[in-house]
Amino acid sequence: MTDSEALYLDAAATEPVSRDVIDAMTPFLTDAYANPASVHQPGRTAARALDAARASFAADLGARPDDVIFTSGGTESDNLAVKGIAMARMRQLGLGNVGGGDFGDASDNTTQADFRRPRIVISSIEHPAVSGSADWLARWFGFDVVRIPVDDEAHIDLDALDRALDGEAGERTTLVAMMLANNEVGSVEPIERIVSIAHAHHVPVHVDAVQAAGLIPIRMRDWDVDSLAVSGHKFGAPKGLGALLVRGRTPIEPIISGGGQERGLRSGTQNVAGAVALAIALRRSNTRMASHYRELVASRDMLIDAVRRVVPRAELTGDPERRLPGHVSFVFPGVTGEALLVDLDARGIACSSGSACAIGRHEIPPTLLAMGIEPQIAKSALRMTFREPLTRVDIERISLAIEESYAALTKR
Ligand code: PLP
Repeated sequence: MTDSEALYLDAAATEPVSRDVIDAMTPFLTDAYANPASVHQPGRTAARALDAARASFAADLGARPDDVIFTSGGTESDNLAVKGIAMARMRQLGLGNVGGGDFGDASDNTTQADFRRPRIVISSIEHPAVSGSADWLARWFGFDVVRIPVDDEAHIDLDALDRALDGEAGERTTLVAMMLANNEVGSVEPIERIVSIAHAHHVPVHVDAVQAAGLIPIRMRDWDVDSLAVSGHKFGAPKGLGALLVRGRTPIEPIISGGGQERGLRSGTQNVAGAVALAIALRRSNTRMASHYRELVASRDMLIDAVRRVVPRAELTGDPERRLPGHVSFVFPGVTGEALLVDLDARGIACSSGSACAIGRHEIPPTLLAMGIEPQIAKSALRMTFREPLTRVDIERISLAIEESYAALTKR
Protein backbone atom coordinates (compact mmCIF):
# COMPACT_ATOMS: atom_id res chain seq x y z
CA MET A 1 0.00 0.00 0.00
CA THR A 2 1.47 3.38 -1.01
CA ASP A 3 1.27 6.47 1.16
CA SER A 4 -1.30 8.19 -1.02
CA GLU A 5 -3.72 5.22 -0.97
CA ALA A 6 -6.50 5.34 1.61
CA LEU A 7 -6.12 2.81 4.40
CA TYR A 8 -9.41 0.94 4.86
CA LEU A 9 -9.93 0.14 8.53
CA ASP A 10 -13.64 -0.62 8.51
CA ALA A 11 -13.70 -4.38 7.85
CA ALA A 12 -16.29 -4.90 10.60
CA ALA A 13 -18.68 -2.83 8.46
CA THR A 14 -17.93 -4.76 5.29
CA GLU A 15 -15.13 -6.38 3.30
CA PRO A 16 -14.34 -6.34 -0.42
CA VAL A 17 -15.21 -9.34 -2.58
CA SER A 18 -12.07 -10.99 -3.93
CA ARG A 19 -11.52 -11.91 -7.54
CA ASP A 20 -11.55 -15.67 -6.88
CA VAL A 21 -14.96 -15.43 -5.17
CA ILE A 22 -16.31 -13.50 -8.18
CA ASP A 23 -14.74 -16.05 -10.56
CA ALA A 24 -16.26 -18.97 -8.63
CA MET A 25 -19.79 -17.52 -8.60
CA THR A 26 -19.90 -16.11 -12.15
CA PRO A 27 -20.66 -19.40 -14.00
CA PHE A 28 -23.82 -19.74 -11.89
CA LEU A 29 -25.02 -16.36 -13.15
CA THR A 30 -24.18 -16.91 -16.81
CA ASP A 31 -24.01 -20.59 -17.87
CA ALA A 32 -25.37 -22.75 -15.04
CA TYR A 33 -28.15 -20.29 -14.24
CA ALA A 34 -31.08 -22.71 -13.92
CA ASN A 35 -33.45 -22.78 -10.98
CA PRO A 36 -32.16 -25.50 -8.62
CA ALA A 37 -35.75 -26.67 -8.07
CA SER A 38 -36.19 -27.49 -11.77
CA VAL A 39 -36.11 -31.19 -12.62
CA HIS A 40 -34.29 -30.87 -15.96
CA GLN A 41 -30.55 -31.37 -16.39
CA PRO A 42 -29.56 -27.71 -16.01
CA GLY A 43 -31.68 -27.51 -12.88
CA ARG A 44 -29.96 -30.58 -11.46
CA THR A 45 -26.56 -29.04 -12.21
CA ALA A 46 -27.57 -25.95 -10.23
CA ALA A 47 -28.94 -28.12 -7.40
CA ARG A 48 -25.65 -30.04 -7.21
CA ALA A 49 -23.71 -26.77 -6.95
CA LEU A 50 -26.06 -25.63 -4.18
CA ASP A 51 -25.58 -28.93 -2.31
CA ALA A 52 -21.79 -28.70 -2.62
CA ALA A 53 -21.80 -25.10 -1.39
CA ARG A 54 -24.04 -26.05 1.53
CA ALA A 55 -21.76 -28.93 2.54
CA SER A 56 -18.59 -26.84 2.38
CA PHE A 57 -20.19 -23.93 4.24
CA ALA A 58 -21.56 -26.20 6.98
CA ALA A 59 -18.20 -27.94 7.45
CA ASP A 60 -16.47 -24.57 7.92
CA LEU A 61 -18.86 -23.69 10.75
CA GLY A 62 -18.78 -27.06 12.47
CA ALA A 63 -22.30 -27.83 11.32
CA ARG A 64 -24.09 -30.35 9.07
CA PRO A 65 -25.29 -29.52 5.56
CA ASP A 66 -28.96 -29.75 6.50
CA ASP A 67 -28.43 -27.21 9.30
CA VAL A 68 -27.84 -24.47 6.70
CA ILE A 69 -30.67 -22.12 5.67
CA PHE A 70 -29.41 -19.60 3.11
CA THR A 71 -30.80 -16.10 3.67
CA SER A 72 -30.23 -12.51 2.56
CA GLY A 73 -27.76 -11.74 5.36
CA GLY A 74 -27.21 -11.29 9.07
CA THR A 75 -30.29 -9.18 9.68
CA GLU A 76 -32.65 -11.68 8.09
CA SER A 77 -30.95 -14.63 9.82
CA ASP A 78 -31.29 -12.98 13.24
CA ASN A 79 -34.94 -12.07 12.53
CA LEU A 80 -35.76 -15.62 11.44
CA ALA A 81 -34.11 -17.14 14.51
CA VAL A 82 -35.41 -14.72 17.14
CA LYS A 83 -38.95 -14.39 15.83
CA GLY A 84 -39.21 -17.92 14.40
CA ILE A 85 -37.93 -19.81 17.44
CA ALA A 86 -39.66 -17.59 19.99
CA MET A 87 -43.03 -17.99 18.24
CA ALA A 88 -42.67 -21.76 17.84
CA ARG A 89 -41.67 -22.15 21.48
CA MET A 90 -44.46 -19.85 22.63
CA ARG A 91 -46.92 -22.27 21.06
CA GLN A 92 -45.05 -25.37 22.30
CA LEU A 93 -45.02 -24.09 25.88
CA GLY A 94 -48.65 -22.95 25.75
CA LEU A 95 -47.66 -19.35 26.45
CA GLY A 96 -49.08 -16.06 25.32
CA ASN A 97 -52.52 -15.08 24.41
CA VAL A 98 -53.97 -18.56 24.30
CA GLY A 99 -57.31 -17.41 25.71
CA GLY A 100 -57.76 -14.60 23.19
CA GLY A 101 -57.66 -11.69 25.69
CA ASP A 102 -55.24 -8.77 25.60
CA PHE A 103 -51.62 -8.80 26.81
CA GLY A 104 -52.33 -7.12 30.10
CA ASP A 105 -49.47 -5.58 32.01
CA ALA A 106 -46.66 -7.37 33.87
CA SER A 107 -47.84 -5.80 37.12
CA ASP A 108 -51.52 -6.12 36.29
CA ASN A 109 -53.28 -8.70 38.48
CA THR A 110 -56.44 -8.44 36.44
CA THR A 111 -54.78 -10.16 33.45
CA GLN A 112 -56.68 -13.17 32.17
CA ALA A 113 -55.93 -16.31 34.17
CA ASP A 114 -54.77 -18.29 31.15
CA PHE A 115 -52.33 -15.61 29.95
CA ARG A 116 -48.79 -16.72 30.70
CA ARG A 117 -46.45 -14.07 29.39
CA PRO A 118 -43.75 -15.43 27.08
CA ARG A 119 -40.19 -14.22 27.64
CA ILE A 120 -37.05 -13.79 25.61
CA VAL A 121 -33.62 -13.24 27.15
CA ILE A 122 -30.98 -11.29 25.24
CA SER A 123 -27.83 -9.43 26.26
CA SER A 124 -27.73 -5.66 26.64
CA ILE A 125 -25.24 -5.35 23.75
CA GLU A 126 -27.08 -7.12 20.94
CA HIS A 127 -27.19 -5.78 17.40
CA PRO A 128 -30.56 -4.19 16.47
CA ALA A 129 -31.28 -7.24 14.27
CA VAL A 130 -31.65 -9.21 17.53
CA SER A 131 -32.80 -6.55 20.00
CA GLY A 132 -35.28 -5.06 17.48
CA SER A 133 -36.71 -8.53 16.81
CA ALA A 134 -37.14 -9.05 20.55
CA ASP A 135 -38.90 -5.68 20.83
CA TRP A 136 -41.16 -6.71 17.94
CA LEU A 137 -42.14 -9.83 19.91
CA ALA A 138 -42.94 -7.61 22.89
CA ARG A 139 -45.07 -5.31 20.74
CA TRP A 140 -47.04 -7.98 18.92
CA PHE A 141 -47.17 -10.91 21.35
CA GLY A 142 -46.65 -9.31 24.73
CA PHE A 143 -43.22 -10.86 25.35
CA ASP A 144 -41.14 -9.77 28.32
CA VAL A 145 -37.72 -8.86 26.96
CA VAL A 146 -35.01 -9.43 29.56
CA ARG A 147 -31.64 -7.77 28.89
CA ILE A 148 -28.69 -9.35 30.68
CA PRO A 149 -26.09 -6.76 31.68
CA VAL A 150 -22.42 -6.81 30.69
CA ASP A 151 -19.30 -5.84 32.65
CA ASP A 152 -16.88 -3.04 31.78
CA GLU A 153 -15.20 -5.24 29.14
CA ALA A 154 -18.55 -6.06 27.50
CA HIS A 155 -18.70 -9.63 28.82
CA ILE A 156 -22.15 -10.98 29.55
CA ASP A 157 -22.91 -11.49 33.26
CA LEU A 158 -23.32 -15.27 33.43
CA ASP A 159 -24.66 -15.28 37.00
CA ALA A 160 -27.35 -12.82 35.96
CA LEU A 161 -28.18 -15.08 33.00
CA ASP A 162 -28.50 -18.08 35.30
CA ARG A 163 -30.73 -16.13 37.69
CA ALA A 164 -32.89 -14.86 34.83
CA LEU A 165 -33.64 -18.43 33.76
CA ASP A 166 -34.50 -19.70 37.20
CA GLY A 167 -37.93 -20.81 38.41
CA GLU A 168 -41.29 -19.91 36.94
CA ALA A 169 -39.87 -17.09 34.78
CA GLY A 170 -37.35 -19.52 33.29
CA GLU A 171 -40.20 -21.84 32.34
CA ARG A 172 -41.77 -19.00 30.33
CA THR A 173 -38.52 -18.29 28.46
CA THR A 174 -38.67 -19.17 24.79
CA LEU A 175 -35.11 -18.31 23.75
CA VAL A 176 -31.74 -16.92 24.82
CA ALA A 177 -30.16 -14.85 22.00
CA MET A 178 -26.60 -13.60 22.39
CA MET A 179 -23.69 -12.59 20.21
CA LEU A 180 -20.40 -14.44 19.84
CA ALA A 181 -18.35 -11.30 19.21
CA ASN A 182 -19.36 -7.69 19.70
CA ASN A 183 -19.36 -5.39 16.69
CA GLU A 184 -18.38 -2.23 18.57
CA VAL A 185 -15.62 -3.36 20.91
CA GLY A 186 -14.70 -6.83 19.60
CA SER A 187 -15.07 -8.70 22.92
CA VAL A 188 -15.65 -12.44 22.43
CA GLU A 189 -18.34 -13.99 24.64
CA PRO A 190 -18.10 -17.43 26.31
CA ILE A 191 -20.75 -19.07 24.15
CA GLU A 192 -20.21 -22.60 25.43
CA ARG A 193 -20.88 -21.46 29.00
CA ILE A 194 -23.91 -19.48 27.91
CA VAL A 195 -25.25 -22.60 26.15
CA SER A 196 -24.66 -24.83 29.15
CA ILE A 197 -26.47 -22.39 31.47
CA ALA A 198 -29.43 -22.00 29.10
CA HIS A 199 -29.71 -25.71 28.37
CA ALA A 200 -29.65 -26.51 32.09
CA HIS A 201 -32.90 -24.53 32.13
CA HIS A 202 -34.14 -26.23 28.91
CA VAL A 203 -33.97 -23.02 26.88
CA PRO A 204 -32.50 -23.01 23.34
CA VAL A 205 -29.75 -20.55 22.36
CA HIS A 206 -29.43 -18.43 19.23
CA VAL A 207 -25.96 -17.04 18.54
CA ASP A 208 -25.29 -13.98 16.39
CA ALA A 209 -21.90 -14.91 14.93
CA VAL A 210 -21.94 -12.19 12.24
CA GLN A 211 -18.77 -10.47 13.48
CA ALA A 212 -16.93 -13.69 14.28
CA ALA A 213 -17.31 -15.86 11.16
CA GLY A 214 -14.07 -16.20 9.24
CA LEU A 215 -12.10 -14.54 12.06
CA ILE A 216 -12.26 -17.01 14.93
CA PRO A 217 -13.12 -20.73 14.79
CA ILE A 218 -16.84 -21.57 15.02
CA ARG A 219 -17.95 -25.11 15.98
CA MET A 220 -21.72 -24.91 16.01
CA ARG A 221 -22.44 -28.54 16.86
CA ASP A 222 -19.53 -29.02 19.28
CA TRP A 223 -20.79 -25.97 21.18
CA ASP A 224 -24.32 -27.42 21.13
CA VAL A 225 -25.72 -24.15 19.81
CA ASP A 226 -29.33 -24.31 18.55
CA SER A 227 -29.11 -21.65 15.85
CA LEU A 228 -26.38 -19.38 14.54
CA ALA A 229 -26.46 -16.39 12.18
CA VAL A 230 -23.70 -15.36 9.78
CA SER A 231 -23.44 -12.68 7.10
CA GLY A 232 -21.43 -13.07 3.89
CA HIS A 233 -20.23 -9.52 3.40
CA LYS A 234 -18.28 -9.65 6.67
CA PHE A 235 -16.00 -12.35 5.25
CA GLY A 236 -15.62 -11.46 1.59
CA ALA A 237 -18.87 -12.59 -0.07
CA PRO A 238 -21.16 -10.00 -1.70
CA LYS A 239 -23.61 -8.03 0.44
CA GLY A 240 -27.13 -9.40 0.82
CA LEU A 241 -26.06 -13.00 1.48
CA GLY A 242 -25.99 -14.95 4.71
CA ALA A 243 -27.24 -18.01 6.50
CA LEU A 244 -29.01 -19.20 9.56
CA LEU A 245 -27.73 -22.52 10.80
CA VAL A 246 -30.48 -24.21 12.72
CA ARG A 247 -30.61 -27.70 14.16
CA GLY A 248 -33.43 -30.05 13.21
CA ARG A 249 -34.36 -30.37 16.90
CA THR A 250 -34.96 -26.63 17.28
CA PRO A 251 -38.61 -25.57 17.10
CA ILE A 252 -38.86 -22.75 14.54
CA GLU A 253 -41.57 -21.13 12.43
CA PRO A 254 -40.76 -19.55 9.07
CA ILE A 255 -41.32 -15.80 8.87
CA ILE A 256 -41.48 -15.81 5.05
CA SER A 257 -44.19 -17.82 3.28
CA GLY A 258 -43.82 -19.23 -0.21
CA GLY A 259 -42.55 -22.21 -2.15
CA GLY A 260 -41.00 -24.02 0.80
CA GLN A 261 -37.32 -23.85 -0.13
CA GLU A 262 -34.61 -24.24 2.54
CA ARG A 263 -36.50 -26.76 4.68
CA GLY A 264 -39.57 -24.56 4.42
CA LEU A 265 -37.82 -21.96 6.57
CA ARG A 266 -36.79 -19.54 3.84
CA SER A 267 -39.03 -19.63 0.82
CA GLY A 268 -37.84 -18.02 -2.39
CA THR A 269 -35.78 -19.28 -5.34
CA GLN A 270 -32.33 -20.00 -4.04
CA ASN A 271 -29.38 -17.84 -5.03
CA VAL A 272 -27.01 -20.56 -6.25
CA ALA A 273 -24.24 -18.13 -7.25
CA GLY A 274 -24.60 -16.48 -3.84
CA ALA A 275 -24.35 -19.80 -2.00
CA VAL A 276 -21.20 -20.66 -3.98
CA ALA A 277 -19.77 -17.23 -3.09
CA LEU A 278 -20.56 -17.78 0.61
CA ALA A 279 -18.84 -21.17 0.62
CA ILE A 280 -15.72 -20.01 -1.24
CA ALA A 281 -15.39 -16.78 0.76
CA LEU A 282 -15.74 -18.55 4.11
CA ARG A 283 -13.23 -21.23 3.11
CA ARG A 284 -10.83 -18.48 2.03
CA SER A 285 -11.29 -16.57 5.30
CA ASN A 286 -10.86 -19.69 7.41
CA THR A 287 -7.67 -20.59 5.54
CA ARG A 288 -6.40 -17.06 6.08
CA MET A 289 -7.37 -17.32 9.75
CA ALA A 290 -5.31 -20.49 10.13
CA SER A 291 -2.21 -18.97 8.55
CA HIS A 292 -2.42 -15.32 9.67
CA TYR A 293 -4.10 -15.41 13.07
CA ARG A 294 -0.99 -14.69 15.15
CA GLU A 295 0.23 -12.03 12.77
CA LEU A 296 -3.18 -10.34 12.83
CA VAL A 297 -3.28 -10.38 16.64
CA ALA A 298 0.31 -9.07 16.80
CA SER A 299 -0.47 -6.17 14.47
CA ARG A 300 -3.67 -5.42 16.42
CA ASP A 301 -1.66 -5.23 19.64
CA MET A 302 1.04 -3.11 18.00
CA LEU A 303 -1.62 -0.66 16.86
CA ILE A 304 -3.11 -0.57 20.37
CA ASP A 305 0.33 0.20 21.84
CA ALA A 306 1.01 2.85 19.20
CA VAL A 307 -2.32 4.62 19.87
CA ARG A 308 -1.65 4.61 23.61
CA ARG A 309 1.80 6.09 22.97
CA VAL A 310 0.61 8.98 20.78
CA VAL A 311 -2.55 9.76 22.81
CA PRO A 312 -1.96 8.73 26.43
CA ARG A 313 -5.49 9.83 27.37
CA ALA A 314 -7.02 7.36 24.91
CA GLU A 315 -8.55 4.27 26.49
CA LEU A 316 -8.99 0.88 24.90
CA THR A 317 -12.59 -0.34 25.04
CA GLY A 318 -13.51 -4.01 25.39
CA ASP A 319 -11.39 -6.93 26.51
CA PRO A 320 -7.67 -6.44 25.76
CA GLU A 321 -7.19 -10.18 25.13
CA ARG A 322 -10.46 -12.00 24.56
CA ARG A 323 -11.24 -9.81 21.57
CA LEU A 324 -11.43 -10.34 17.84
CA PRO A 325 -8.13 -10.27 15.99
CA GLY A 326 -7.97 -7.16 13.80
CA HIS A 327 -10.34 -5.21 16.07
CA VAL A 328 -9.12 -2.03 17.79
CA SER A 329 -11.54 0.30 19.59
CA PHE A 330 -10.75 3.31 21.74
CA VAL A 331 -12.39 6.29 23.36
CA PHE A 332 -10.57 9.61 22.99
CA PRO A 333 -11.72 11.92 25.81
CA GLY A 334 -11.96 15.56 24.75
CA VAL A 335 -13.10 14.99 21.15
CA THR A 336 -16.07 13.35 19.45
CA GLY A 337 -15.59 10.13 17.53
CA GLU A 338 -17.42 11.74 14.64
CA ALA A 339 -14.98 14.67 14.42
CA LEU A 340 -12.03 12.31 14.69
CA LEU A 341 -13.46 10.05 12.02
CA VAL A 342 -13.96 12.95 9.60
CA ASP A 343 -10.48 14.33 10.27
CA LEU A 344 -8.86 10.92 9.81
CA ASP A 345 -10.83 10.37 6.64
CA ALA A 346 -9.34 13.58 5.24
CA ARG A 347 -5.93 12.09 6.06
CA GLY A 348 -6.71 8.90 4.13
CA ILE A 349 -7.65 6.67 7.06
CA ALA A 350 -11.17 5.17 6.78
CA CYS A 351 -12.49 3.91 10.13
CA SER A 352 -15.73 4.03 12.09
CA SER A 353 -17.03 5.81 15.15
CA GLY A 354 -19.11 2.93 16.46
CA SER A 355 -21.40 0.26 15.13
CA ALA A 356 -21.48 -0.68 11.47
CA CYS A 357 -25.14 -0.67 10.76
CA ALA A 358 -26.56 2.51 12.25
CA ILE A 359 -26.52 4.11 8.83
CA GLY A 360 -25.88 7.84 8.80
CA ARG A 361 -26.74 8.09 12.47
CA HIS A 362 -24.04 9.25 14.81
CA GLU A 363 -25.68 7.84 17.89
CA ILE A 364 -23.72 7.11 21.03
CA PRO A 365 -22.40 3.54 20.68
CA PRO A 366 -24.93 1.52 22.72
CA THR A 367 -22.44 -1.17 23.75
CA LEU A 368 -20.26 1.46 25.44
CA LEU A 369 -23.26 2.76 27.39
CA ALA A 370 -24.13 -0.81 28.45
CA MET A 371 -20.52 -1.18 29.66
CA GLY A 372 -21.12 1.76 32.01
CA ILE A 373 -19.08 4.33 30.07
CA GLU A 374 -20.31 7.93 30.51
CA PRO A 375 -22.22 9.17 27.43
CA GLN A 376 -19.80 12.09 26.98
CA ILE A 377 -16.85 9.67 26.82
CA ALA A 378 -18.76 7.06 24.80
CA LYS A 379 -19.32 9.75 22.14
CA SER A 380 -15.56 9.81 21.54
CA ALA A 381 -15.40 6.20 20.31
CA LEU A 382 -13.34 5.21 17.30
CA ARG A 383 -13.16 1.70 15.82
CA MET A 384 -10.45 0.39 13.48
CA THR A 385 -11.00 -3.07 12.02
CA PHE A 386 -8.96 -5.04 9.47
CA ARG A 387 -8.78 -8.64 8.23
CA GLU A 388 -5.21 -8.63 6.90
CA PRO A 389 -2.30 -7.96 9.26
CA LEU A 390 -1.15 -4.33 9.22
CA THR A 391 2.50 -3.58 8.39
CA ARG A 392 4.76 -1.47 10.60
CA VAL A 393 4.50 1.27 7.99
CA ASP A 394 0.67 1.14 8.18
CA ILE A 395 0.79 1.34 11.97
CA GLU A 396 3.13 4.33 11.90
CA ARG A 397 0.93 6.06 9.38
CA ILE A 398 -2.25 5.43 11.42
CA SER A 399 -0.72 6.48 14.73
CA LEU A 400 0.78 9.64 13.24
CA ALA A 401 -2.59 10.55 11.73
CA ILE A 402 -4.34 9.94 15.06
CA GLU A 403 -1.72 12.00 16.91
CA GLU A 404 -2.13 14.93 14.51
CA SER A 405 -5.94 14.69 14.38
CA TYR A 406 -6.29 14.53 18.13
CA ALA A 407 -3.89 17.45 18.63
CA ALA A 408 -5.72 19.53 16.01
CA LEU A 409 -9.18 18.78 17.45
CA THR A 410 -8.26 19.38 21.10
CA LYS A 411 -6.54 22.71 20.25
CA ARG A 412 -9.75 24.21 18.81
N1 PLP B 1 -25.24 -8.75 13.74
C1 PLP B 1 -24.09 -8.11 13.97
C2 PLP B 1 -23.32 -8.37 15.23
C3 PLP B 1 -23.59 -7.19 13.04
O1 PLP B 1 -22.45 -6.55 13.29
C4 PLP B 1 -24.34 -6.96 11.85
C5 PLP B 1 -23.88 -5.96 10.86
O2 PLP B 1 -22.92 -5.25 11.08
C6 PLP B 1 -25.54 -7.67 11.65
C7 PLP B 1 -25.96 -8.55 12.62
C8 PLP B 1 -26.36 -7.48 10.41
O3 PLP B 1 -25.78 -8.14 9.30
P1 PLP B 1 -26.16 -7.73 7.79
O4 PLP B 1 -25.40 -6.49 7.47
O5 PLP B 1 -25.70 -8.88 6.94
O6 PLP B 1 -27.62 -7.58 7.72
